[in-house]
Amino acid sequence: MKTHDHNIPPVGIDLGTTYSVVAHLDAQGHPETLVNAEGERLTPSVVFFDEFEVIVGREALKAFARLPERAAECSKRDVGYKVYHKVLQGKYYPPEVIEAYILNKLRQDAAQQIGEFSQVVITVPAYFDEVRRKATQDAGYMAGLEVMDIINEPVAAALAFAYEEGFLDNNVEVSQSQKILVYDLGGGTFDVTVMEIRGHEYVTLAIDGDVRLGGWDWDQRLVDLAAEKIIRVHGFDPREDVRAWGKLWSLCEEAKRTLSVRSKAVISFEYQGRTAEIEIQREQFEEATQDLLDRTRFTTIQALKAAGVTWDEIDRVLLVGGSTRMPMVRRLLREMAKKEAETSVSADEAVALGAAIHAGWLLGKARGEPPRFRIRNVNSHSLGVVGVDPLTRRPRVGTIIPRNTRLPIIAKRRFKTHRPNQRSILVQIVEGESPSPEDCCPIGQVSVKDLPLNLPKGWPVEVIFHYRSNGRLRVKIRVPQMERDINAEFHRERALTKELLDGWRRFISGKEPTDYE
Ligand code: ADP
Ligand code: MG
Repeated sequence: MKTHDHNIPPVGIDLGTTYSVVAHLDAQGHPETLVNAEGERLTPSVVFFDEFEVIVGREALKAFARLPERAAECSKRDVGYKVYHKVLQGKYYPPEVIEAYILNKLRQDAAQQIGEFSQVVITVPAYFDEVRRKATQDAGYMAGLEVMDIINEPVAAALAFAYEEGFLDNNVEVSQSQKILVYDLGGGTFDVTVMEIRGHEYVTLAIDGDVRLGGWDWDQRLVDLAAEKIIRVHGFDPREDVRAWGKLWSLCEEAKRTLSVRSKAVISFEYQGRTAEIEIQREQFEEATQDLLDRTRFTTIQALKAAGVTWDEIDRVLLVGGSTRMPMVRRLLREMAKKEAETSVSADEAVALGAAIHAGWLLGKARGEPPRFRIRNVNSHSLGVVGVDPLTRRPRVGTIIPRNTRLPIIAKRRFKTHRPNQRSILVQIVEGESPSPEDCCPIGQVSVKDLPLNLPKGWPVEVIFHYRSNGRLRVKIRVPQMERDINAEFHRERALTKELLDGWRRFISGKEPTDYE
């Protein structure tokens, strides 16, 4: 195997909802997880806003259990919205800014071991829409990074697995194809992906998921169980006092891990003189969370259907995400797939390792090396434009690219001018599965203000949508039979401006702005 160029280390980052992981390719090209400044492989994705400093990782997680109101946890769940749901030190922060603080720590800690670097690959849930993908890239930029690409977490996990199995070796001829189900249950998101490895091609057949389902929800059920007991003993509901809740949550999260290996766990709660010993049986825990597990079952079946694949055709099941350590998850998959899941790659590191492999491939490609694999994705949400229903006169979404379409793809939509000498048009772009615009995610609008003079009414104007393979969108406008380029402005609904991005980049990472779209 070729050794990589030492000037630019290939680095991959799994920016998780609850934990983040950084990996690189070592001098031999092996993917390897890097430990953080605290010596841990997993960095809690928590940011704590102290009076004078911002703390990230393990210390922030500890502080969160004491003073939850000052900490930002699960910011990835809010990515795509304008601001993080909590006010922190009197301020509303965009979620991607909070993520930038996390990435900045990861960058600095990794640099301690492999030297300064800026080029990285960051992973995103396959289910992330365009707005969230863009926000993730922006987070990387504000952290002083140059995001070469974003890659879907399940694809990264499949790459790490393939590496482990030797499929990525140039000398190995991988002839037969295999279908893989990637079940990723992390802290805050659930993602299920059906993939096929055809020789050196990594083809995503279908994706589905739930951006608001993860280990966190299992924790809250334990908190509820414990709270009931505390109410019975003390007549005090710890969920109503944010600090008592923070403390109880942290104890419950630990108890949950215990319940993965033992049949019972004891939670010793102590708060302002009130104490309670709460014993939880695994059975009791599983019963209280059965509906959450059922949601993942339902989503998994949907993804298989969308892929047109039956369980018999699934060759391998990959379990990704810390929450797949729960025995109930393994049992569910065994029942559904009628086979044991793969365990050759660690469930919480697979994604970062795969991202590093992808980074190595991108850097290699830039040096003119032949590719060892090819990734083929699908889009996770239908892309549409908002129009007016001719019958009801109400706004309605017209789908342009349905979900689960193979990427990259270019789609065109023809509009007609409404009146003679119309100079401008405005096209509203959304992603989502609903016909009504308010239930979809607004991406932005394309406006054209300089259509040629004196076009007759009904003149065609083409809007060209280009979904790249990483799920990012580009929009162009063309007026057929016109020579000159039309200036189309793509105004994003929920993105930070370049000025703000540059300001945050300087502030968070101390790095100067660079060219960035
Ligand atoms: P994400 O990628 O969403 O940040 P991870 O894949 O790191 O998340 O998974 C984190 C989740 O896994 C947390 O909810 C954590 O409590 C849970 N988890 C980690 N280890 C275990 C375990 N041994 N048993 C049960 N849950 C676990
Ligand atoms: Mg994850």
